Amino acid sequence: MKMYDYLVVGAGLFGAVFAREAADCGKKVLVIDKRPNVAGNIYTENSEGINVHKYGAHIFHTNNRKVWSYINRFAEFNRYTNSPVANYKGELYSLPFNMYTFNKMWGVVTPDEAAAEIERQRKAAGIAEPRNLEEQAISLVGTDIYEKLIKGYTQKQWGRPCSELPSFIIKRLPVRLTFDNNYFNALYQGIPMGGYTAMIEKMLDGIEVRLNSDYLQNKAEYDGIAHKVVYTGAIDAYFGFKYGALEYRSVRFETEVLDKSNYQGNAVVNYTDAETPFTRIIEHKFFEFGNQPKTVISREYSSEWKPGDEPYYPVNDEKNGALYLRYRELAERENGVIFGGRLGEYKYYDMDKVIESAFDLCKKELSD
Ligand code: UDP
Repeated sequence: MKMYDYLVVGAGLFGAVFAREAADCGKKVLVIDKRPNVAGNIYTENSEGINVHKYGAHIFHTNNRKVWSYINRFAEFNRYTNSPVANYKGELYSLPFNMYTFNKMWGVVTPDEAAAEIERQRKAAGIAEPRNLEEQAISLVGTDIYEKLIKGYTQKQWGRPCSELPSFIIKRLPVRLTFDNNYFNALYQGIPMGGYTAMIEKMLDGIEVRLNSDYLQNKAEYDGIAHKVVYTGAIDAYFGFKYGALEYRSVRFETEVLDKSNYQGNAVVNYTDAETPFTRIIEHKFFEFGNQPKTVISREYSSEWKPGDEPYYPVNDEKNGALYLRYRELAERENGVIFGGRLGEYKYYDMDKVIESAFDLCKKELSD
């Protein structure tokens, strides 16, 4: 008995947006998730009055006004602006790369001096056409910044040398000849007051949700109750890894409650040397300007994904790109199943891009 128009597998951002829109178009929707909670990797949990980003820090930012006004229907956003600090063996630098960073690194004072130093280092490295992350980074900011702020962090984060990583990863970070520590080039930015979980709960308001429900373990049964499936899990897992596993990076969080109000004075501090085993420390209260008496911090340890781990970052290099295309061919032939979101499309998506892609799906599926 097909009781539902859509079964949405995964109660993360992609699934929640699609479910909301489908329900608002009068469709009968069931959302399932194998975790005991909604919100996927943007899940936040209250600890000591602080919203802890359990699956890694998420800072909402977008240039898309439609996306911004949409998301504001489900939460009020604060004015948080991400400005991480880089700690290289005790030396602190401003991120993203801007005049404060260049001044601290080289003592330069004007934008012209900074540009000239970057150009000098770029020329000395002899890179004409950057072919990988290392060459891209050096062409953007020179060798000193590459060595101190990029090389160690990136190799820890991705578990691969920078020379074997695609250059688009580093293009996520702005380079500015202005005194501006805003990490994102985005018109709109903030954190949902009260946490992301409450935001997703509001999105799913009135929609049937079943938690602790594993689609792949009961696939035939679930397929039997819905006309169509929107699957937001890992695409390789859906096909039983038949061509082999796609590579992901996983993250382990070591979270601690500290009996002090301020540990590091900032939400995000990146440890950019190669020796410190974690990539960054998140102090969650500062996402919402908290003044609680205690604080909660999370150290992030990056590792290669293996079965049983949570997949976080797709490794979008050539090898995995080619493997993904083979899975996508299978996905296109899979009748009645739509693949979406970061894991379904194997894509290093930011949250606003996830929403845009869910909007695209809604247009295709729901507009007649
Ligand atoms: N990155 C770096 N040094 C830093 C921060 C970032 O080299 O201090 C590089 C690194 O390769 C990372 C990429 O920039 O993977 C993108 O960083 P972002 O902060 O956007 O990653 P996310 O927050 O998604 O983990």
